[in-house]
Amino acid sequence: MTDHLATVDASIPYGKRPLQVVVLSGPSGSGKSTIVNRLVVESPVKLIKMISATTRPIRTNETDGEDYYFLTNEEFQRKSEDGGFVECEEVHSSGFWYGTLRSELHRASDEGGWAFLEIDVKGALSVMEQYPDAITIFLKTPSEDVFENRLRTRGTESEEVIQRRLRTAREELNFADRYRYQVCNDDLDRAVEEIIEVLVSREAESNA
Ligand code: ADP
Ligand code: 5GP
Repeated sequence: MTDHLATVDASIPYGKRPLQVVVLSGPSGSGKSTIVNRLVVESPVKLIKMISATTRPIRTNETDGEDYYFLTNEEFQRKSEDGGFVECEEVHSSGFWYGTLRSELHRASDEGGWAFLEIDVKGALSVMEQYPDAITIFLKTPSEDVFENRLRTRGTESEEVIQRRLRTAREELNFADRYRYQVCNDDLDRAVEEIIEVLVSREAESNA
């Protein structure tokens, strides 16, 4: 589907500068959503959480337009063909598509914040090409057992889905060194703090 995408406009303005993009990836259960939700509240650098589009079914605890824009396959395909995505991928070999909406990046720009993307490794590699200055962070856990346990404790996936996500996680770990920063989420507060330090130092550099 990526072939249908128009070339991204990497110069979406942010004040007088191009939009700063932040990407967080990591295995399922590594704590990405938990950390994103903390960061948007606690980071002194204004972060705008990008709401992706997806074709996967909505979960009971989710709200359309807040967690994702839930689209039919046809709607997603049409948006892709119209160049509406910065990147889009079939994630976790699930048959479901996920994509970063170009309109969301414009929203971050309009709101004067940094665009914060929580996306899979394939999507992140595509964003790295389009936004070479993106701050890219790979979230790890101390061991595979830890993310497996967290995935099970969260209780949102069936055994089959858990097994598929574990397979993807092992593949994704091979790409960790393509990210500028790797953060271990053993202790949640420390991981959040470490990411905030990265963001603050990057903001100071960009203001220098
Ligand atoms: P992801 O978005 O990467 O799939 P989640 O943010 O949903 O992961 O986290 C998976 C589970 O692990 C959740 O139940 C969450 O509360 C828990 N969790 C996240 N970070 C930690 C941590 N540092 N220590 C213990 N549990 C954590
Ligand atoms: P979930 O189905 O648990 O909400 O998300 C599954 C995975 O999809 C997560 O690992 C998340 O990183 C990834 N994801 C969410 N939105 C996007 C997106 O817009 N693009 C890509 N490439 N991956 C996404």
